[in-house]
Amino acid sequence: MKRILYIPFDHLHRNFGVLRDATPADDLVVLVESARMQTDRAWHPIRLFFLISSARHFATSLRSEGFTVEYIKTPTTIEGLISVQEKYGALPIFCAEPSSFLQYQSLKEFGVEFVDNDFFLTPRTMFAQWASTQKSYLMENFYRGQRIRLGILVDGREPLGGAWNFDKENRLPPPKNYTWPEYLEHPSDEIDLDVAAELGISAPTTWATTREGALAQLKYFISEHFPSFGPYEDAMTTENWALHHSLLSPYINNNLLHPSEVIDAALKAFEAGRVPLESCEGFIRQIIGWREYVNGMYWFLGEEYRNENQLGASRKLLPLFTDSSKTEMKCVQESVRGVEDRAWVHHIPRLMVLSNLALLTGVNPQEFLDWMRESFIDASDWVMVPNVIGMGMHADGGLMMTKPYISGGSYISKMSNYCKPCKYDPKDRTGDNACPFTTLYWDFLDRHQETFAANHRMKQQFFGLKRLSDLPELKVRANDVLKKLELGEI
Ligand SMILES: Cc1cc2nc3c(=O)[nH]c(=O)nc-3n(C[C@H](O)[C@H](O)[C@H](O)COP(=O)(O)OP(=O)(O)OC[C@H]3O[C@@H](n4cnc5c(N)ncnc54)[C@H](O)[C@@H]3O)c2cc1C
Repeated sequence: MKRILYIPFDHLHRNFGVLRDATPADDLVVLVESARMQTDRAWHPIRLFFLISSARHFATSLRSEGFTVEYIKTPTTIEGLISVQEKYGALPIFCAEPSSFLQYQSLKEFGVEFVDNDFFLTPRTMFAQWASTQKSYLMENFYRGQRIRLGILVDGREPLGGAWNFDKENRLPPPKNYTWPEYLEHPSDEIDLDVAAELGISAPTTWATTREGALAQLKYFISEHFPSFGPYEDAMTTENWALHHSLLSPYINNNLLHPSEVIDAALKAFEAGRVPLESCEGFIRQIIGWREYVNGMYWFLGEEYRNENQLGASRKLLPLFTDSSKTEMKCVQESVRGVEDRAWVHHIPRLMVLSNLALLTGVNPQEFLDWMRESFIDASDWVMVPNVIGMGMHADGGLMMTKPYISGGSYISKMSNYCKPCKYDPKDRTGDNACPFTTLYWDFLDRHQETFAANHRMKQQFFGLKRLSDLPELKVRANDVLKKLELGEI
């Protein structure tokens, strides 16, 4: 053996990272299941199940290819690497650049040699070059550049179909009398059952833990969901928890799938005429736009970015985030229940229900970040930090988003069927039945008038605030709502 190849649990692809040029004759492969990874936070058991079972399956597939694989359980990763060097001699250890600051630092200090992280479509240096030439880091500008650079849905430098986005065609509310496709189930095998038993849960079948399962999910998305992805990407309904979303984030994040494979499959379906442009563009935007942008921003903005709290939000995490029975707000109840049941809800519940509530109530962004990190199956540090600090909580003073993503109950009412059976009325601002989102939305604008006064994109919102005749009563109701939310009584 000439080298030790260390494979973090989010580098599980045979053709990328440090395995790209690996051979069974020269390379010893090491995966470490550290106790710290399992016990340092209150991780959702489904998230742990997914990460551990995927890694154990990956180790098995490398063994069947002829590799010597050490899958080690130790208190920490570094102790695992030390034990391998004790067993095999002090061979040099190689790893693709890790995907978080913390892991980067600790492996570097230990002397691990890095090869380029090619698990994204945009090298970190290339993103930094782009960002350093921008006045404001608008995702839309980055995305258009990506389309041209990667030659995706463009005719030279012009967008196919004459527009860069199709937001008007997309963003529809949930359809009525609609038949949603069946959920794809992923049957458990022995490894899954062992991991689930170790974690004290029954093995979930929502999530695949193998490359074959991840490819099956991709295939199912492309054939059953992709054509209608665009129109309903922002909708929420009690009738179906996945709608037409791909459920691919866990696999792209732990690299059972490489983003280029997802893009290739999407473009193939589009070129075969099986998917309308607006759905194709809407989906491609998420992968080559948002996903790459968020990763680029994580590295560009640096390690301290996670501590931003420019709105000075200091409220403790509300009890309803960790226990769906602590609220009667239907939208929040449904969203938190989704997280409890499967460690996943789609983008709009994350942004317009959960983060919106945390932002409007002034929950401390770092407390909210911790909860989100622990609770979601796809929550890698690089993706959660910018999405929560920048997009969800506007805690960075607008570095990522030009205005905060806030709304009252009317947005949720328009985009879901949550409000009809709810005891709170999205149209009411005051009174016991007023929707907390509606009350808190105006209260937020009132509290932050000074901060956002110069933001011309919020002019309309402040114009609305000025016209409120019941602001004094609304402030009283807002205080009451906040107290009750803290007690888990609303
Ligand atoms: C507050 C907040 C927290 C989030 N936390 C995470 C997270 O921890 N991990 C994560 O992967 N995504 C996160 N997202 C982004 C997005 O919500 C999820 O990627 C998406 O819901 C995953 O479901 P899906 O695979 O069905 O996505 P689809 O709707 O099918 O979208 C396709 C893919 O696009 C990518 N994507 C879309 N939006 C984003 C985005 N904003 N950032 C990065 N990738 C994106 C994902 O890889 C996703 O799989 C977060 C968004 C918000 C607002």
